[in-house]
Amino acid sequence: MKYDYLIVGAGFAGAVAAERLASQHNKKVLIVEKRNHIGGNAYDEYDKHGILIHKYGPHIFHTNSKKVFDYLSQFTGWRFYEHRVLAKLDNKLYPIPINRTTINKLYNKNFTREEEVKRFYESIKEKRYPIENSEDIVISQVGIDLYEKFFKFYTKKQWDLDPSELSPSVCGRIPVRTNNDDRYFTDKYQFMPKDGYTKMFEKMLNQKNIEIVLNTDYKKIINDITFDKMIYTGPIDYYFDYKFGKLPYRSIKFEWENHKKEKNQEIAVVNYVESEPAFTRITEYKYLTGQDKNSTSISKEYPQSEGEPYYPIPTEENRKRYLLYKEKADKLNNVIFLGRLAEYKYFNMDGVVGRVLKEIG
Ligand code: FAD
Ligand code: UDP
Repeated sequence: MKYDYLIVGAGFAGAVAAERLASQHNKKVLIVEKRNHIGGNAYDEYDKHGILIHKYGPHIFHTNSKKVFDYLSQFTGWRFYEHRVLAKLDNKLYPIPINRTTINKLYNKNFTREEEVKRFYESIKEKRYPIENSEDIVISQVGIDLYEKFFKFYTKKQWDLDPSELSPSVCGRIPVRTNNDDRYFTDKYQFMPKDGYTKMFEKMLNQKNIEIVLNTDYKKIINDITFDKMIYTGPIDYYFDYKFGKLPYRSIKFEWENHKKEKNQEIAVVNYVESEPAFTRITEYKYLTGQDKNSTSISKEYPQSEGEPYYPIPTEENRKRYLLYKEKADKLNNVIFLGRLAEYKYFNMDGVVGRVLKEIG
């Protein structure tokens, strides 16, 4: 059998690419996935207690792109869900991103107007110029105290780096608010796939032009198949046999618990922003899915340096190493590198979908 495309990886990047090529360009596609399931890190499944969980940690869909939202809507219905997170500090819970409620509660203030909160930030923030790292970006907005309370230790746990060693784009993902909007995201479209991510992927990939082989590293079969082009969504350093050394990826160990009660915490995600405990956050999945069950499942996230590659680590040194790989990748005419691991970029799901739609159409 000859394929038009070999696609490595069945996550968002690989699945959207396969779907487009098969349905819009009438291409014959073979997807090779080394895990035993499709969906990449967005994969969800029912655990033994009947709770729909995200095996690789909480995935909340949000986008400002109508194009991305309309595209995915062909394969799933949606459940309206706006994500909220509380940060645990001194045994009290505060809204994160930092907003007016956070400030009032933490500093015993009674601000009611945005102007007052703005002036408060003005009084505590420090000038940093240029903004070179994640410490600068936070301190230049809210000063040292809020930085130390909410960012310093969480970031250290998550990345095993001080915020000053990380690109400003990391902590810059989290806005600072003067109003009392306590949503984690302000995107126009905030929904969860009605029947879960895996069902959505199944619908995307269930086409006559797409074949899927699971449990297989592409390097094991590449010499046995014939294809014209490849789309590669795995780690870029692995593709080139670590020629320029390993690119570090941050991993996570998930600890799972099920509790025989309706709810375990008061919101979907609680961030543990102090140095102890060692985990960064607890997610309670029923909040994300809206499932009605009399037990509840949670995950605790322990960041690790070894294990499945989940996060590219945005430091200057890693970026330089990535560019060496990219230069080689750009010279290959029949291989396209797409997605979080192949482009070594801290993409959200919608970013990956948008990227692939742009590349393939
Ligand atoms: P992946 O999902 O990693 O897919 C790559 C696939 O390639 C994998 O299935 C892998 O097994 C396969 N593969 C790798 N190497 C090989 C090989 N040699 N042979 C065959 N197959 C191979 N985004 C959001 O928008 N909202 C969120 O709330 C959110 N939360 C997240 C939480 C966590 C803990 C993590 C880790 C990520 C989160 N993301 C979130 C980001 C989201 O997971 C990614 O944007 C998205 O999954 C990237 O898709 P991808 O296809 O590029 O990569
Ligand atoms: N962050 C933090 N404290 C928080 C939330 C986030 O220090 O309470 C920092 C941390 O470095 C984290 C980054 O901001 O990795 C981005 O947070 P986000 O919630 O977007 O991370 P993700 O969901 O991608 O793991």
